[in-house]
Amino acid sequence: MIVVMKPGAPESEVDRLDAEFRSLGLSPEKIVGKHKTVIGLVGETVDMDALQLQDLSPWIEQVLRVEKPYKRVSREFRHGEPSEVIVSTPNGPVTFSQHAPVVVVAGPCSVENEEMIVETARRVKAAGAQFLRGGAFKPRTSPYAFQGHGESALALLAAAKEATGLGIITEVMDAADIEVISEVADVLQVGARNMHNFSLLKKMGAQDKPVLLKRGMSATIEEWLMAAEYIVAAGNSNVIFCERGIRTFDNQYARNTLDLSAIPVLRSLTHLPIMIDPSHGTGKSEYVPSMAAAALAAGADSLMIEVHPNPSKALSDGPQSLTPDRFDRLMTELSVIGKAVGRWDTRVPALI
Ligand code: PEP
Ligand code: MN
Repeated sequence: MIVVMKPGAPESEVDRLDAEFRSLGLSPEKIVGKHKTVIGLVGETVDMDALQLQDLSPWIEQVLRVEKPYKRVSREFRHGEPSEVIVSTPNGPVTFSQHAPVVVVAGPCSVENEEMIVETARRVKAAGAQFLRGGAFKPRTSPYAFQGHGESALALLAAAKEATGLGIITEVMDAADIEVISEVADVLQVGARNMHNFSLLKKMGAQDKPVLLKRGMSATIEEWLMAAEYIVAAGNSNVIFCERGIRTFDNQYARNTLDLSAIPVLRSLTHLPIMIDPSHGTGKSEYVPSMAAAALAAGADSLMIEVHPNPSKALSDGPQSLTPDRFDRLMTELSVIGKAVGRWDTRVPALI
């Protein structure tokens, strides 16, 4: 249920109601919006009467029931107010939100060695990326494929962070690694293959780092929203959705079907920010720029692009990785659209 306060409701009244709701066995969450304060109520509300709750204060404008199975991540829970996921990085805080400039995350699929990760970090930073991505623990379809360098790759990510000040995003496959990964990562990624791993999702909710939640390759939008609800319900409201393509009947040309309609659909259903990953979405580097441009035009809050200094030699996902030079050009192309839709950070270096 959500309790919408009238504009100008005194803070003392909101606090009094907070205590009152707690005494009814509910967990209230206060959301201070631009115009109004909203109190989200979680708990056994099925038998509660909205009108009776409304009588608790003359400052209550409305009491609404959230009918969706996902509650805290739903757009209604914040009465339409988009949330902000603010990530602190050595270069300063970066905001993922509908009302913020688009955030670009770039880097190789896997961290291979120090030279390549530091070099890639320098290049993507110069082109305007705010985050470096790179897998240390890799979820691979084949047990015989390169599995990532694991813990030793975390030290290489730390070196790249030190050299550039970029924020770091890397995947957590096993809850046992959360602590060690958190020493270097600023955002923890849950990969497509783990979107349904509910015990991992609960653990992600019980730690403090923001979580990037990729869409399972055959997950419906509602299953994806419910996966985010697991994280938020467990205590961590900093979740970013990432569409990375869904299983397709026709994978002859593209690896997946990148569901760009997920942008307006999620926008209408959740207050949380939305990232698009055209690299895994298409599987081919030549298709990545068009899909990145389309995603930005369609309102994505963030983009994740795989970049490798020598894609033909990459240990994973070379065919979908851009060279640093192609990434430079892509950022210039994106800046045109980004400015047109009012989502481009003018501090991003302008490349010729
Ligand atoms: C990745 O980001 O490198 C990755 C493995 O992504 P996904 O989980 O979307 O396949
Ligand atoms: Mn990859």
